[in-house]
Parts: sequence; structure tokens; C-alpha cells
Amino acid sequence: MIYMDNAATTKPCAWALDKASKFVTEQFYNPSALYEEGFALQSELKKARSALLSKVADENAFELIFTSCGTESDNHAIFSFAKRGNAVTTAGEHSAVLVPFTELKNRGVIESRIAPLQKDGKVDVEKLLALVDNKTSFVSVMHVNNEMGAINDINEIAKRVKQKNPRVIFHSDGVQAYGKIPYRLSKDIDLYSLSAHKIGGLKGVGALIKRKSLNLPAFIFGGGQETGKRSGTENVFGIKQFAYASEKKFETLIGDFDRLTAERERLANGLDSEIYTRLSPTDGTPYILMVSARGLRGEILLHMAHDKGLLIGTGSACSSNSKTRYNKVALACGYDEKIADGTVRLSFSPETTEQEITDAIAIMNEIGRDLKGRMG
Ligand code: PLP
Repeated sequence: MIYMDNAATTKPCAWALDKASKFVTEQFYNPSALYEEGFALQSELKKARSALLSKVADENAFELIFTSCGTESDNHAIFSFAKRGNAVTTAGEHSAVLVPFTELKNRGVIESRIAPLQKDGKVDVEKLLALVDNKTSFVSVMHVNNEMGAINDINEIAKRVKQKNPRVIFHSDGVQAYGKIPYRLSKDIDLYSLSAHKIGGLKGVGALIKRKSLNLPAFIFGGGQETGKRSGTENVFGIKQFAYASEKKFETLIGDFDRLTAERERLANGLDSEIYTRLSPTDGTPYILMVSARGLRGEILLHMAHDKGLLIGTGSACSSNSKTRYNKVALACGYDEKIADGTVRLSFSPETTEQEITDAIAIMNEIGRDLKGRMG
């Protein structure tokens, strides 16, 4: 099978699994235990925290708490600070952000304001800024869109939001950015969400980066782990494996970025333009290519690709249960329903080979022509 659904999840990094395995087999102690064996794990967690944080932020200005996933990190940020007035987000967000916004709106806690997207999948910054006023308590703008692959300039957006209202707490969902594109968080970012399984870590491990001076309320109450913000015995193995997996990703980040940019372009250019329309921008993440077979159904193409040995997505795997079959992000970018019905997303990892890209081009063209032929 050729796996090209890496935006949904990635294969866990074998080197990191091996290196972290002693935290299951030997050092299985509770990190809160008062004897030496437990205490040693506190310093292992500290090392993992520092390794993960220092890759993208200044450790003097930011700190990191471990969570159970990207969804929890997003929820922690939103339910902590979208508490009054209005809160602003974008139409491109993952459901881990959009659903909490709807929930808070339905509870009557906030007025939820959603900024539109441009055709390339980035948020329309001027329209977002127009929604921010002196009653805005919270703004959330995703870093890399998980469907289109568009990259929002979150440092610049946060700066401009704070010029308009300095009291706003600014959050960004960095789940599809971390370990994949080069950046550093600026002082205007208050909160930033990560997820391990998008970069060779395990499902069920995430992190929330926060500005040190920000008073983040507790989200899970209990034994006081994670400086009291997120109680629950730490998943030491998962956390260490995440840190090791990130080490590998950051070591080769720039080389992978350049190689995958070239491979994504080769794939995009190799697809039959009579069938496929490219939706992903050329300046987006090299890890994602979204195209649409206008007039055909993306879901059928997904199954046909599967039968030929190619695993792809149609958009966010997490929203596959939604009642509407149209890709909401494509609609939000201004594409019509035919385009939004025909979307397929191919997403890569540093392990994706040249041969796999060549084979994917052949399979996508064969199934596209086949389905189009059958539709008459
Ligand atoms: N945010 C984005 C942009 C994502 O792509 C995903 C997963 O698809 C999530 C959040 C949720 O992360 P997790 O699966 O760790 O809960």
C-alpha cells in the first residue's frame, strides 16, 4: 500500500519507539512517586518538554504542558479564554476549534465570529481584523490548514490583532505545522496546540504551548500534574516517544521541506488537467496537496485509489461523519459544490518516496479517467 494520508495520521517513528521503550518495560514508575525512580522520570519529562518547546519558541518566554491530543489542547485554550464578549476564528479551522466555538455560542457565553477564507485557503486577514473590536476576548487562527495546506502568517496576524485590541488572547492550532515547516513563535502568540501523531508520534499525546506570563486555568482537575493545569498521571512513554520523534523531524526539516515541495509540484503537474483542478496553493505546506475532480465524487475516487493500493483522504478524516458530503473548506474558499464534492487530499511524510509519487500520479490519472468515462 502507498500511504498518502499523512495529514490524518503518520506511521509512528520506529527509532523513537525503540528509544522510548524502556519507559514501558523498565522505567514504568509513576512520575509523581516520591522515591528516586519516580523522581527520575520528572527529569525525563522536563527534558522532553524542553526539547519540544525549544524547537519553535523561546524557553524564557514560553512553557509547555502535555495533553492527550491536539483536540484537548484546542479545547483547553478556547474554554479557558473565550469567556466574554465575542471570539473570532476562521472558516478553515478544524472541528477541534469550530465545535467548541459553536458550543460556547449555544451556551450563550460568547458571540462567535467566523472570518472567511481566500481562494488559496488562507484566512482573509483584513476581514478577520474587521471582526475584532474592543469586546473581543479571544482569537484563534490555525497555522497550517489541514485540508488546503495553506499557511497563515500567525505572527503577523497576532501582531495586528493586538494592535487593534491588546487584551485579546491569541491562540493558534499548530497541529499541521509543527515539525513540518520552519518558524518561531513571536511574543504575540499566547497559546499554541501540538499533536504527536502528525509527526511520527502516537495518537493520544499532545501539548499546549503557553506564554509564561499567561494565567492558564486548569482544564482537568485532580492530582495537580502539569503544574496543576492538566491533572492525570503523565503518559511518560508517549511523551518521550513524541520528543524523540520530533528530534528526527527537526534534524531534516529544511531538507524534507525542499524535497517534498519539489515532489508535490511533480505530482500536481503530473495529474491530468482535464480531470483534476489543483486547490492547494504553491506557497502552502509541501506536506499536503488538495485537488478536485470536478463533477466526480472524491469519496468514490478514494475507494478506487484504495483498490489500486493507494491510501488518500477527501479532507479532514475527523469530519468524515458529517452529514454534508461537500468539503466545507473548499466551499469556504469560494469553490462551487461540484468542486467541493470532488476533492481528494494527498498528504506526505519525509518517508514518501519518489517512486510512490510516480505511482500515485499513474493511479490518480487511471481512476480519474475510468470514473469520468463511466459517468459518460
Ligand atoms: N487540528 C488540526 C489542524 C488537525 O489536523 C487535527 C487532526 O486531524 C487536530 C487538530 C486534532 O488533533 P488530534 O487528532 O491530536 O486530536
